[in-house]
Amino acid sequence: MSQVWNFSAGPAALPREVLERAQRELLDWNGSGMSVMEQSHRGKRFTAMAAQVEADLRELAAIPDDYAVLFLQGGATQHFAQIPMNLAGEGDSADYIVNGHWGEKAANEAAPYVRVNVAASSKGADYRRLPPRAEWKLDPRAAYVHYTPNETIHGVQFHEVPATGGVPLVADMSSDILSAPLDVRRFGVIYAGAQKNIGPSGLVLMIARRDLLARATRPMAKIFRYAEHAANDSMLNTPNTWGWYLAGLTIQWLKAQGGLAAMGERNRRKAERLYAAIDGSGGYYRNAIDPAARSRMNVPFTLHDGALDALFLAESEAAGLFALKGHKALGGMRASLYNAVPPEAVDALAGFMRDFAARHG
Ligand SMILES: *Cc1c(COP(=O)(O)O)cnc(C)c1O
Repeated sequence: MSQVWNFSAGPAALPREVLERAQRELLDWNGSGMSVMEQSHRGKRFTAMAAQVEADLRELAAIPDDYAVLFLQGGATQHFAQIPMNLAGEGDSADYIVNGHWGEKAANEAAPYVRVNVAASSKGADYRRLPPRAEWKLDPRAAYVHYTPNETIHGVQFHEVPATGGVPLVADMSSDILSAPLDVRRFGVIYAGAQKNIGPSGLVLMIARRDLLARATRPMAKIFRYAEHAANDSMLNTPNTWGWYLAGLTIQWLKAQGGLAAMGERNRRKAERLYAAIDGSGGYYRNAIDPAARSRMNVPFTLHDGALDALFLAESEAAGLFALKGHKALGGMRASLYNAVPPEAVDALAGFMRDFAARHG
């Protein structure tokens, strides 16, 4: 097969160099004569690698020592529930900012474990903008404020970290983690399913202030308790060894690319180029999101005539541009431009879009 560009929303493209290295190392990892998947997570080789991945991530994202780094499982969805289990006590409330599908789901899944206060929502605007900060009804006694910096389906993104007046901020960064510089100190907990910007599915990365993890008071099994995972170096039980390894390769790749500042700049330019192709199409293509809240990671767009959708998808695939079909809830198209999607892929897509519009005017 010739070169293809993968715009999947998740599981998503991985850097080619990462896959090539994993391929080279598959049958003989680290001089062991075996693949990384086939050995004990308690062995010297694996524990050394695991520690190195954490050290590399700490350096890449300047993670302070009073924050734990956890390598968990269950997808971001499991943590929608586990976060209130750990961060809220009996009778506590938590504030949720709902600016898209995932934030809404996080609030619903938290409800059995904490009194959920939807402090702001843009559902009434079909999630085409962010709820203005001045209208948020934050409760200073809330256990935490939860938000979704980038809404993967709706294509809206916060470009600044909101102030919460000292209440710990919990962020579901599944679709924008490590895509731009990150000021960890602004957050209580950052968590992300790995399958968009970090590695394969089945791994969840969490960066959490240690004092917050010690808060859990309700009775629960150890496997749900973040403090237990932290105390056991994320090896309370068998971790996702393959995911941990691939995340490590991706983190090294990010460092080699120049780190998060360079990635942020590259991602900004990629998104600008695609939005320019949409906005410059004279209405042929359209993105309905408030320009100030447009996502740099997920760009949904529609064609002026929905009857052309199937043809657009067939022709784009034939041109090697994959997974552009929009989420079923919204229809239309969506191009996801995560870290591993190179600028050439965006140029190829923008060129195809111009050509398609010219041929099917
Ligand atoms: C994909 C995604 C999720 C769901 O992740 P799972 O790993 O499938 O549970 C949650 N939040 C956001 C922002 C996402 O993009």
